[in-house]
Amino acid sequence: MPSPESTVTEKIKQTSYFTFLMKPLNLGFTSLRNRTVMGSMHTGLEERWFGFNRLARFYEERARAGVALIVTGGISPTFSGRLSLLSSQLSFPFQVAKHKKLVSAVHVHDAKICLQILHAGRYSYHPFAVAPSAIKSPISPYAPKALSERQIKKLIAAYVNTAKLAQRAAYDGVEVMGSEGYLINQFVCRNTNQRQDDWGGSFENRIRLSLEIVAAIRAAVGENFIIIYRLSMLDLHKDGSSWPEIEQHAKLIEKAGATLINTGIGWHEVRIPTIASVVPEAAFTWVSKRLKQVIDIPLITSNRINSPELAEACLQDGDADMVSMARPFLADSEFVLKAENNQSHLINKCIACNQGCLDRIFKLQQATCLVNPRAAYEDRYPLRKVKKPKTIIIVGLGVAGLSCAYYAALRGHHVIAYDAANLGGQFNLASVIPGKAVFHDTIRYFENQLSILNVEVHRNHTVVFEDLRESFADAIIFATGVRPRMPDIPGIDHFSVMDYETAIRDNRSIRDKVAIIGAGGIGFDVAEMLIAEPAESGLNDQLQPNDLQDGVSQDGRSNWFKQWGIDRDYRNRGGLLDKAVNQKPKRTVYLLQRKDEKPGKRLARTTGWIRRLTLRRAGVEMLTGLRYEKIDDFGLHIVLQGEDGHEQKQTLAVDHVIICAGQRSENDLYLRLKAIGQPVFVIGGAKKAAELDAETAIRDGLELAYKL
Ligand code: NAP
Ligand code: SF4
Repeated sequence: MPSPESTVTEKIKQTSYFTFLMKPLNLGFTSLRNRTVMGSMHTGLEERWFGFNRLARFYEERARAGVALIVTGGISPTFSGRLSLLSSQLSFPFQVAKHKKLVSAVHVHDAKICLQILHAGRYSYHPFAVAPSAIKSPISPYAPKALSERQIKKLIAAYVNTAKLAQRAAYDGVEVMGSEGYLINQFVCRNTNQRQDDWGGSFENRIRLSLEIVAAIRAAVGENFIIIYRLSMLDLHKDGSSWPEIEQHAKLIEKAGATLINTGIGWHEVRIPTIASVVPEAAFTWVSKRLKQVIDIPLITSNRINSPELAEACLQDGDADMVSMARPFLADSEFVLKAENNQSHLINKCIACNQGCLDRIFKLQQATCLVNPRAAYEDRYPLRKVKKPKTIIIVGLGVAGLSCAYYAALRGHHVIAYDAANLGGQFNLASVIPGKAVFHDTIRYFENQLSILNVEVHRNHTVVFEDLRESFADAIIFATGVRPRMPDIPGIDHFSVMDYETAIRDNRSIRDKVAIIGAGGIGFDVAEMLIAEPAESGLNDQLQPNDLQDGVSQDGRSNWFKQWGIDRDYRNRGGLLDKAVNQKPKRTVYLLQRKDEKPGKRLARTTGWIRRLTLRRAGVEMLTGLRYEKIDDFGLHIVLQGEDGHEQKQTLAVDHVIICAGQRSENDLYLRLKAIGQPVFVIGGAKKAAELDAETAIRDGLELAYKL
């Protein structure tokens, strides 16, 4: 069943605003129906029991909605190249059958699909890792063995074997992964390739492996098979390729027989963000544009492109011939269909949080999406209407309530929803934090969906006990969220103290010196907001809309590159500046925690390091293993554990003490109605405040909607 908005779209067929994005691309022997690529994403289904059946459904939903070309998650050509011992490999004929399922699910909808061949090299998370040289990566505990020349020859044959098996499975082509610091990239760069033979030393020798692989695959598969080469165009480390080397490499890859070149940015081990929400939208398309001037085959750009408007702008500006988006297709399977029908306002935008996708993969869980928890669970949550629709009341329209209202209405229930304020709850606060302006789009998405689905939405309506004590609704769902928890510290009522909600709302009234109690996700958020200029934290209403894309002004974008040491003039190897330029922080900030552990230790794996580094560079003083003594006119009095075991008292003379010490559930009404036997349910923070995050809240909404 197509989602309701796509039914609407069928009625309004008209010329798409996105003319460049929707234009077919002729590759000679075949053509692609538009310029969208669903970039390679590992979902975790690749290794699960019956995972390929589910993966087929996942790809099919995206193919049906118009994507031109899908690239699979990385599949290794050899055992030693697997990312982990249990990761996928395609080396044997018996493995072809399951791949055929993926391919036919995509082909039935006229989309194309390429298998990504990925050898992890020294990023292989197991003791059999191999690499050009026996040099351990800083992000792996396993030192690789250096490949012998004989093993390199065998490796090229293994790539060819995988490509031929892919062809036998009816894939339209393969993508050879040559970027992000994986094996081929390790051969190209001089720090990881210190060989003295024909595969190391000069640049010509270091790129030999990539060229031989592409040429050998082309010779084996014939002319009518797509070969994409993912080229590392900006290594972001000091031993990375220089720009003239990148150009030379690209031209030779073209000559070796590639059909398309895809853009790769950064290495996984480099401490410069390339896809997180702090990265400005479309931040790296300038690199693709530079390369496009020197090659003749079509070029794909990528990284932080999450809307049809951005994709169209990249194509119109001549940055590339195609746009690869990976996470946006997790967030919305109908991205292309909606763009085609001028309904980008109905797209569920990827907010670049990594929480539902990459962070889950790192925890060996199956990937999904924070804003779309159906992603990769399409079989568990089919888009099917219920036989007996019910009347459902939802109280609270933060993201848990919005999600529940949406999925319940989608399933055919009659939904009436109330919020004491406007929609979005805590997401409204989050959207003020630097890099999180995009959170508004999630609220906008649900709001538009509820309108299409005829959900009765009552804003600024506080529901009281009497309203519901005799309600005949089949279910009353409480998604009433959380309130900040105030710790029991002497002086907590002092005028300098405020909770994080007030601090975020009144950001501009906050003076120069601030202590933050609590160094969890919200403590970090508040610290990031306080060190930033108001414009970057979404609060400067002086800015004109044209200055902003993702809430970041042009100056803000340019500062972002300087802060992370990226040189858009590409004067040095790896595209780095001689020195990163730290911005002067706007305020003096202390971030405090009682636990004696590294601040931010529990933050998410893929983004926690960015947040810690950002605060460290801005001079935020992070103190841990302390006690709060009192708050008074002199400031916040704390007691630290000295190195000699003695306690040391310290007074932080601050203007404000901001409390970010967790939350408590707001569920009084739920408990009262439960006591009189009303059919009540509770979801999100109102159910469990401890360690609640948006991912759990939105998934809670979906799960309950499917149980009703
Ligand atoms: P949290 O992560 O649980 O952190 C609460 C902080 O308050 C801790 O540092 C804790 O450290 C301190 N604290 C707890 N009780 C205290 C007390 N009685 N007195 C003083 N300090 C106390 O909660 P949160 O920061 O409110 O975040 C809520 C949820 O949202 C979390 O699950 C978080 O991961 C999520 N979130 C995620 C992001 C993101 O970007 N991914 C952003 C914001 C929030 P000590 O007890 O050691 O002092
Ligand atoms: Fe995007 Fe976050 Fe969803 Fe991943 S989980 S696809 S980053 S919105």
